[in-house]
Amino acid sequence: MDFSLGREEELFRESLRDFLSKRLSPIWESIDEEGKIPTELIRDFGSQGLFGIPIPEEYGGQGATFTMAAIAVEEIAYHDPSMATAVLTLLNNAWPYVLYLHANEEVKGEVLPKVAAGRGFFGIASTEPQGGSDVAAFKTSALREGDKYKVYGEKIYVSGIREAMEQLELGGWLLIARTGSMEERHKGLSALALIGNSNGVHIEGLKYSSLNTIGRHGISTGILTLEGAEVPRSHLVGGEGKGFYVAMEGFNVARPLVAAANIGAARWALEQAVQWSRNRVLFEKPIAAFQGVSFPLAEVSVEIEAASLLIYKAAWLADRIYVKKEPGLKPIDLAYYAAAAKMKAVETAFKAFEVAMKTLGGLSYIKETKLYRGLLGMMSYMVGAEGAHNIMKYIVARELIGKEYVK
Ligand SMILES: Cc1cc2nc3c(=O)[nH]c(=O)nc-3n(C[C@H](O)[C@H](O)[C@H](O)COP(=O)(O)OP(=O)(O)OC[C@H]3O[C@@H](n4cnc5c(N)ncnc54)[C@H](O)[C@@H]3O)c2cc1C
Repeated sequence: MDFSLGREEELFRESLRDFLSKRLSPIWESIDEEGKIPTELIRDFGSQGLFGIPIPEEYGGQGATFTMAAIAVEEIAYHDPSMATAVLTLLNNAWPYVLYLHANEEVKGEVLPKVAAGRGFFGIASTEPQGGSDVAAFKTSALREGDKYKVYGEKIYVSGIREAMEQLELGGWLLIARTGSMEERHKGLSALALIGNSNGVHIEGLKYSSLNTIGRHGISTGILTLEGAEVPRSHLVGGEGKGFYVAMEGFNVARPLVAAANIGAARWALEQAVQWSRNRVLFEKPIAAFQGVSFPLAEVSVEIEAASLLIYKAAWLADRIYVKKEPGLKPIDLAYYAAAAKMKAVETAFKAFEVAMKTLGGLSYIKETKLYRGLLGMMSYMVGAEGAHNIMKYIVARELIGKEYVK
């Protein structure tokens, strides 16, 4: 049992802190205010090796680990607690990794090096307007015509629309679509690498629009409308009828990183509160002297510590499964820890922002304090992004009690 990071990981964290404190901290508020991550910043993240971290170097990735990816995402969210840049980073680590696992060489060669270099974006297009949690009921259809699929349907709350379609050289998503019948439920779903934008050329039959979100404004969230968009059959990821399993594996590798983003932002919120509790003097004492102020801070600190242990355990397990390929371990073994890490981290981040805002009192309700930007950013994960909160509880319950009991 060893709770410390290795030397390489510590050095990575230190150099990242140095980079982010100069490059991200000074501009995160304006990114949130203006609603756009500058393209040069995305390029700089690429040059810094922050995308495709667990993807082998032969595909342009960093050839590192999920632990390193979690460190990167946590630090980015600490330096940009609105979480927009952390979300872009975690998507550009998790979903390209699914391509590395299951796509053919042509797709990997087209997408992975561009994403890793900060010149591309690859996310997930799963959710449909009639409900994101019931994946087996998705209606978007992919009809086979020769060596192509023609896709019809609508995907909603999709992250990275503008970045993929307008800002970067290449943009796409892992699209979950039905190649079988509705009666086949989840077994009728397939995953396709939908490349919406390649060097400024947009795929025909794909319309996109942005939604007016309440937080994490730097990264866009929107709607993809597919009206006969043609996707080459070679872009099938994991085989026909395997889309549900490919998507679930993607969520499992993404969730420890989502959790890391929440904890990075939570650490920042706690620091604001600790600082204020030392400086604010009332009744002739710093307010930290009152247990009504210091105990909630202590509780949040412990929650953050506990959530971090869960996150890094999930990342360590992902490394054992995917990077070290330890015999006896299967991808499904990650499901419990990935869902548990997201569940715990989101609850902890919510509490951290609540306690921080109460500690600052009326000041926290003034825009300049910035805490609200973090609260609204993390709320995206409380309400559903990368899986609704109840779905995390369902997965943990299923793994704990058994599939035959928890339906
Ligand atoms: C900012 C943001 C970004 C997003 N980015 C993406 C993206 O890039 N790609 C993408 O595909 N999706 C994305 N999503 C969508 C996200 O995956 C969905 O919000 C999520 O899957 C939940 O779907 P829903 O919002 O339709 O809620 P619903 O599925 O309609 O759920 C509504 C409520 O019912 C509860 N519920 C549902 N089923 C059960 C059940 N069986 N038991 C108990 N409770 C249940 C849920 O917990 C939730 O509280 C994003 C969402 C947000 C907010």
